[in-house]
Amino acid sequence: MKTYPIPMVPGPVKVAREVLEAYQINYGSADMEPEFLELYNQTEANLKTILSTQNQVVIQSGEGMLALWGALKSCLAPGDRVLSIATGVFGDGIGDMAASFGAEVRKISLPYSETISDMDEIKKLVETFNPKMITVVHCETPSGTLNPIAELGIAKKELGVPLLYVDAVSSIGGAPVLTDEWNIDLCLGGSQKCLSSLPDMAFLSVSQAAWEIIDQVDYAGYSALKPFRTAQVEHYFPCTPNWHGVAGLNAGAEMILKEGLTNSFSRHAEVAQYCRNYINEMGLTLFPASDAVPAPTVTAVNVPSNISWQEFDANLRQYGLVVAGSYGPLTNKVFRLGHMGTQADRELVARAMDVIGKVLP
Ligand SMILES: *Cc1c(COP(=O)(O)O)cnc(C)c1O
Repeated sequence: MKTYPIPMVPGPVKVAREVLEAYQINYGSADMEPEFLELYNQTEANLKTILSTQNQVVIQSGEGMLALWGALKSCLAPGDRVLSIATGVFGDGIGDMAASFGAEVRKISLPYSETISDMDEIKKLVETFNPKMITVVHCETPSGTLNPIAELGIAKKELGVPLLYVDAVSSIGGAPVLTDEWNIDLCLGGSQKCLSSLPDMAFLSVSQAAWEIIDQVDYAGYSALKPFRTAQVEHYFPCTPNWHGVAGLNAGAEMILKEGLTNSFSRHAEVAQYCRNYINEMGLTLFPASDAVPAPTVTAVNVPSNISWQEFDANLRQYGLVVAGSYGPLTNKVFRLGHMGTQADRELVARAMDVIGKVLP
């Protein structure tokens, strides 16, 4: 299916009209024109507001994974210790990514239906393992859960861990992400989730402590962060920036700021609650455990036991509804409704629920 009548995939989401319009211009060279630098700086300022941070925000051309890789590779040398907290596919994956280039990774893996609750276990491991970096995912999109980050940030500071790395790709703009208050050194985002843009831009906030480490590690590579430290001052980027992509990302960010951050958060929370209530009323079961925190941007539901995911998906598509399956151990077991960005829309979710009700065996 090329276009979705009822789009409910948790990224890429339905692109906002304002964003599409930003792509309809034949921009000049981003390497040469001061207008590009102004746009980049404005986009950075908007993202700082959305991320509640004073830290520099780096904007890279590429999807979210680029920032996930770039932040790991730029901050870690082989042998550096990483405590990877995993409550889902992305959390586990980030630990594996760090291990793949020689970091010494210790994992705390919780069941994918859970969110972080036992800070004591984490603190104990931090004290004995003494990591350079803690990695964690705020919204585990494949599980439909939202990890509390505030307490982790307090522990990071108390115990003197140099870096806290948080993948907030699918929560930024749809839920409070208090980068500075939560002591996050690397807060990672992407354009295709709550910012309602294309899957073409990645961004992350970088703390002063992180910049110092990035300088020491001195990683050079396509995803490297180091060149961005001075890119704005010198108007010299490591490769030709994607003017369209930055313009689209900025349009998505401005939509949220125009709506008001707290309004956006409550829209997401209300639509998510509505979706969960409806799912329960239909006799379906939510994937997150009852004591886990459900995500305000995506709802994960167990595939009904008397139908396969493939058949269920095909039936939904007949009515124009496209949801997503899930990944890793949740493949074929869980389906997901993405109510983020443009899709955090009560009327859209109501149409989706209508279709699910029709095809339920
Ligand atoms: C979408 C997403 C990413 C980035 O994925 P891309 O496909 O590269 O945009 C990273 N982490 C989480 C939790 C996500 O939901």
